[in-house]
Amino acid sequence: MNPDKIKIQVKNLIKDFGSLHVLQGVTTDIHEGEVVVVIGPSGSGKSTFLRCLNRLEETTSGRIIIDGQELTDPKTDINRLRERVGMVFQHFNLFNNMPVLRNLILAPVDLKKCSKTEAKERAMAMLKRVGLEEKANAYPRELSGGQKQRVAIARSLCMKPDIMLFDEPTSALDPEMVGEVLDVMKELARDGMTMVVVTHEMGFAREVAHRVLFMADGQILEEGTPDQIFRDPQNPRTRDFLNKVL
Ligand code: ADP
Ligand code: MG
Repeated sequence: MNPDKIKIQVKNLIKDFGSLHVLQGVTTDIHEGEVVVVIGPSGSGKSTFLRCLNRLEETTSGRIIIDGQELTDPKTDINRLRERVGMVFQHFNLFNNMPVLRNLILAPVDLKKCSKTEAKERAMAMLKRVGLEEKANAYPRELSGGQKQRVAIARSLCMKPDIMLFDEPTSALDPEMVGEVLDVMKELARDGMTMVVVTHEMGFAREVAHRVLFMADGQILEEGTPDQIFRDPQNPRTRDFLNKVL
């Protein structure tokens, strides 16, 4: 982690859905190469927070600044910015009617990031990185859940992101497939990727996170190193939550 470079600055982020106040003033700085794990009860706004970071949701107020560029600034090329922020969802979101390789080259080619040949080369390299080179021509239906999620990660990496957001990437997987996906994420973290990960995998948080944020009611109620949060949580809500999940 590079403590001298702030990658994502979030200042007093507020998000309402109508009269529902989902994010109620979230403030945090995320540094280059930092791995931040977000935990908290269902409905606390974790997914909404991630979705605001790559502007899948419009914010109600507050500021999000990525690499010095304000997300809401009309001068910011939001598509460009979004290309650099990869996102992996619980339910893979692969195109089931096309083979893995086509899933991977679709966005880079459509967005004219590179030629088809270059896109294919990068796609094969990314498949290799997640250990699925031999599945390039397979259809998603021929893959296990864990393999699909590794393909989804590879697809994200094809856009050359320098930030990766993960929203419960292992929650939909059978238990025996969780490890292979977490292993890929651990390797990304080791390679210095800036990552924000919503997960209930406390082992992953302990091992990989630089910082853990505990969210409840649309706010960060507590944050600290995994050691601080898991060994000595200060907020009663954090304690209560950890008692339930650990
Ligand atoms: P979490 O990921 O922590 O479970 P979410 O961010 O998904 O929480 O949801 C937080 C709250 O916002 C929930 O009450 C949810 O119903 C509400 N919410 C999320 N997305 C929308 C939406 N598009 N429209 C209305 N309400 C929403
Ligand atoms: Mg969620």
